[in-house]
Amino acid sequence: MYDIAVIGGGPGGYATALYAHNFGLSVALIEKDRIGGTCLLRGCIPAKALIESGAVFSTVKSAAEFGVVSSEPHFEWPTAMARKGKVVEGLVNGLAGLLKTRGVETFDGFGSLAGNGRVTVSHDDGSATEIEARAIVVATGSTPSSIPGYDFDGVAIVSSDHALDWDAQPSSVAIVGAGVIGCEFASFLAEVGTEVHLFEVQDQLVPGMEPEAAKVLSRAFRRRGVKMHLGVGVGQPKVAGDSVTVPFGDDEVTVDKVLVAVGRRPMTDAINLDAVGIAAERGYIPVDTATMMTSAPGVYAVGDIVAGTPQLAHVAFAEAIAAVTHIATGETASVDYNAIPMVVYTHPEIAWVGRTEAAATSDGYAVETTEHGMRGVGRAIIQGETGGTVKIVAEQGGQLLGATVAGPGAGEMIHELMYAVGFEALPSEAAAFVHAHPTISEAIGEALMASTGRSLH
Ligand code: FAD
Repeated sequence: MYDIAVIGGGPGGYATALYAHNFGLSVALIEKDRIGGTCLLRGCIPAKALIESGAVFSTVKSAAEFGVVSSEPHFEWPTAMARKGKVVEGLVNGLAGLLKTRGVETFDGFGSLAGNGRVTVSHDDGSATEIEARAIVVATGSTPSSIPGYDFDGVAIVSSDHALDWDAQPSSVAIVGAGVIGCEFASFLAEVGTEVHLFEVQDQLVPGMEPEAAKVLSRAFRRRGVKMHLGVGVGQPKVAGDSVTVPFGDDEVTVDKVLVAVGRRPMTDAINLDAVGIAAERGYIPVDTATMMTSAPGVYAVGDIVAGTPQLAHVAFAEAIAAVTHIATGETASVDYNAIPMVVYTHPEIAWVGRTEAAATSDGYAVETTEHGMRGVGRAIIQGETGGTVKIVAEQGGQLLGATVAGPGAGEMIHELMYAVGFEALPSEAAAFVHAHPTISEAIGEALMASTGRSLH
């Protein structure tokens, strides 16, 4: 009998298994593929490794402007892919080693619920192992979804899973969906010279983020030649030979590949939720977010399969910590979903935390906002990246509710605002701290000062 049986070895599952060592709990970790999940194998890590190659290419291309003259660079796709593979393997092997050191027992196979405290592992050779545990954590994650007529064939019409393994650089791509994943691919592919058409039915890049940040990204995409088709739905694609034609409005575009990035669906269909009486909502599992326990006592869910929480690796980590803490101690370590940093790893990066102005208003707050652009920020001028902005959302006369940073290093800078929003600071409390000069973060200090009604520059 184990203390915890975990189904799924992605960020939610492996974080559960790793964190359990703090309490001396024994863990069985069941994975049907490879340990690492979407994040390490088909998501965050490989995508950001390629994006980094694109960023280096961009830096070298503009080096002459900084007085560094080299021969004209070209982008070597196979080398970037090979580097991405090495980064992934290094992290996956490191994780496997860490799990071993922590005494986690891993089982290869498909896990399904067999009743309270019981999990069946079905192996590829047709055999099965029955596991008993005091608690079960379901962390089976998600997989790319598509739209009618755009079934993935892995060649012409692909998901992010396929695109991260393309062995040659496509000369043109249509990306359907300008959410986070679609925009990250658009940014990278355009940066390395692929012709990109980006389609989005809503009228903004990354719907839901602050429009000011979307404008920064639109300008950068336009400069890099991304053809943005916003507020436009796509018609049925026609595959002919090595190309695909995508109709939209009265027009059409013919490209090498279509990458569909319209969201992800939870992988809970085949795990026998009925065995413990869990009723999923469109495949997502409802939980008590204070503990991550489902409606079935002793059965927890974490990560992308949880109903109503963001599908992010760091959210999965935090939910795993909450679940393990409850299993081990009965105490709660609930996730503060109001202070989760969101990062879009485009060039420039966009990051936000807490509520946008629209979200705060729809939650009933009377809000006031301030913005500070990066055009006059010394470090931004030095780096040649002046297109960004910082926007602060605060309750009128009250606490900080949210903030967005668009610009170089936004994904790192957002964390100072994470603390400010998480600790429910007043703009005046946050603005009292001094930012180093010259840094891009000074734009945050300026926007906070403006929220107090007294600006500096
Ligand atoms: P997953 O990572 O999907 O892991 C689930 C695991 O369970 C898989 O290994 C699967 O094989 C296994 N499994 C499923 N069913 C069973 C079963 N029945 N039995 C045994 N094993 C099973 N998030 C970020 O925070 N930052 C990013 O920059 C970021 N970039 C992304 C880029 C892309 C292209 C994509 C697709 C996603 C990105 N994400 C990012 C999202 C992130 O990858 C997910 O939120 C995260 O992986 C979710 O973790 P999880 O453990 O819930 O699920």
